Amino acid sequence: MSMVSAKLDLHTHSTASDGLLTPTELVTQAHEAGLSMIALTDHDTTNGLAEAQAAGAAMGVEVVPGIEINTYLPHGQGEAHVLGYYLDTANADLQAFLQFLRDTREKRGERMVALLREQGYDVTWARVRELAHGAVGRPHVARALMEKGYADSIADAFDRYISPGRPAYVPRFKMVPEDAVRMLRSVRGVPVLAHPLRLFGLEDDLLPRLMRAGLLGLECYYGEYDEPTVENLLALAEQHGLIATGGSDYHGPGVHPTPLGGHYVPPEASTLLRAMADRLATEPAPPFTPPSH
Ligand code: AMP
Ligand code: ZN
Ligand code: FE
Ligand code: FE
Repeated sequence: MSMVSAKLDLHTHSTASDGLLTPTELVTQAHEAGLSMIALTDHDTTNGLAEAQAAGAAMGVEVVPGIEINTYLPHGQGEAHVLGYYLDTANADLQAFLQFLRDTREKRGERMVALLREQGYDVTWARVRELAHGAVGRPHVARALMEKGYADSIADAFDRYISPGRPAYVPRFKMVPEDAVRMLRSVRGVPVLAHPLRLFGLEDDLLPRLMRAGLLGLECYYGEYDEPTVENLLALAEQHGLIATGGSDYHGPGVHPTPLGGHYVPPEASTLLRAMADRLATEPAPPFTPPSH
């Protein structure tokens, strides 16, 4: 009963966060690329899902509800991103917390623009807000910098102005990945650690910690990860009993090198995610636990 040509991509972004394509444009591109399934995993919002699912229904592309929560490791050890699949988007506590996260993203975006302006760069918050249709992120600030000729590319803008240690960097709301995992479990989502390569203390410390918090998957097939890297991550997932997932992290044309559907993801990944979500749906969910703030 296997669909021989099933192609899927479980990590994508739309204009609901920092992608360049609207949910409809994204699904259209997935359809044109021959994908049968995508997960929409926008940062801190599920607001693109309804449109994506409507477009998907019309075009025969299954749209898996997803999200990506960017968090920080303690002690300045960098970022860890947590994906969540099949989460209950109707949960009011969840939506209130996501709104809080997006509100803090606005204040942070304004602060980054203020820092740039103090240093003589003529970018405006109004323009950044115009470029962002939903959750504001550094990529929107980067685009505003590029438009004014202060950077040659998004990556260049990050490197020069808005990466940690650079003059206009402001962190997001501080949340540890355990909190994102617990929050996702409380809304019956399947939490997956995103692009885990080079995460500080991954094998010996981070993964065990996240598993105690309720982690269920590891993103093994990702963007430009080469075959040996994927094999190593698959072994790690297997060893911990985690579902191996994957995707391109597509943000629109020209943002990252990997095109939509550009990294092979076995259909089994979606089957296992779905089965896990179905199982979680039959169990009582732990109470909603928003990160302390
Ligand atoms: P934020 O969540 O606002 O801090 O923005 C982080 C997001 O910006 C990541 O999730 C990526 O989508 C994107 N990003 C981070 N670094 C780069 C980079 N060097 N070039 C392009 N996009 C980047
Ligand atoms: Zn992004
Ligand atoms: Fe990410
Ligand atoms: Fe992403």
